[in-house]
Amino acid sequence: MEIITDITSMQQSALSLRREGRRIAFVPTMGFLHEGHASLLREGRQRGDVLVLSIFVNPIQFGPSEDLDSYPRNLEGDCVIARACGVDIVFTPTAAGMYPPGFQTAIRVPELALPLCGASRPGHFDGVATVVAKLFNIVQPDLALFGRKDFQQLAIIRRMTLDLSLPVEIVGMPIVREADGLAMSSRNAYLSADQRQSALCLSRAIRLVRERYAAGERRAETLREEALKLIADEPAATIDYLELRDAATLEPAADVSDTTLMALAVKIGTTRLIDNTLLGDDL
Ligand code: AMP
Repeated sequence: MEIITDITSMQQSALSLRREGRRIAFVPTMGFLHEGHASLLREGRQRGDVLVLSIFVNPIQFGPSEDLDSYPRNLEGDCVIARACGVDIVFTPTAAGMYPPGFQTAIRVPELALPLCGASRPGHFDGVATVVAKLFNIVQPDLALFGRKDFQQLAIIRRMTLDLSLPVEIVGMPIVREADGLAMSSRNAYLSADQRQSALCLSRAIRLVRERYAAGERRAETLREEALKLIADEPAATIDYLELRDAATLEPAADVSDTTLMALAVKIGTTRLIDNTLLGDDL
C-alpha cells in the first residue's frame, strides 16, 4: 500500500493507471475509519482494479464554530484498516496543497443544499461539493463510493456529477450500524459512556417511525410529532431537525411513502449526530 501526499504525484499515478486500462475505485473520507468506511472500501475492492482511499479533513466544509480542530485523527490506525480492506493507495493531501493561496473557486448545488443539514450548516455542502470535484480531478476515479449515512451529501454529489458530466459512477452504500442501532460515525468518539446511551434516541426514533409506517400510518406530521416526542424524552438530546421529505427532491412530504426519507440531526451534549432512513428500504 502506497501513501501519497503530493497532489501532482497522485494525479500522475492515476492518469498512468488509467492509460493502462485499470479501473480506479475511490472512497473519499475524513479518516478515523470505522466499519462504515470499511464497507465502502470492500465494495470498492470488488468493483475496481485499483482502490484509492483519500483521508482529508476538509477545512472548507466546517463552519467557524464547528469541530475542525478537534476532529478525530489516527493515520496509523486508518492504515491498518485500509490494508485489511485491500487499499492500494492512501491519498493524504494537505490543506495548503488543496487550497493554494488565492483559492476562490466553488461548486454549489443550491437547491439540494437548502434544507436539512444545509440549513444548520451554511456553506457546508459548497465545501463538500468543491472538495469532491477536486478529488475526482486528482484521483481520476471510474467509480466513487459514498455512504447513505450522509444521504443529502450523496444526493448533492449525484446531482453535481450529472450536472457537470463528470465521468464517474457514483455508488451509494447502506448505513452501517453498531449492534444496538447507533449509526457508525467518527464523531461517536466524542461521546462519553452516558452520552453513547443517550445517542440511541436517533435510531430509536427511526425505528418508531418505521414501525408506525409499517402499521399503516401515512401522515408525515403525525409520524414527525411522535418521533420528536421520543427524542424530547431524552434529556441529553437537543434536536437540530427531524423531517420527512421526498428522497429525490428533499421537499417536504405531507403523506409518506416508500420513497420518503426520514432524516434527523440531534446534538448529544456538544456532539452533533445525524441519521436517516428511507421508509421503503431495509434498515
Ligand atoms: P466521513 O469520513 O465521515 O466523511 O465519511 C466518508 C464516507 O463514509 C462518506 O461517504 C460517508 O457517508 C461514509 N460513511 C460514514 N459513516 C458511515 C456508516 N455508518 N455507514 C455507511 N457509510 C458511512
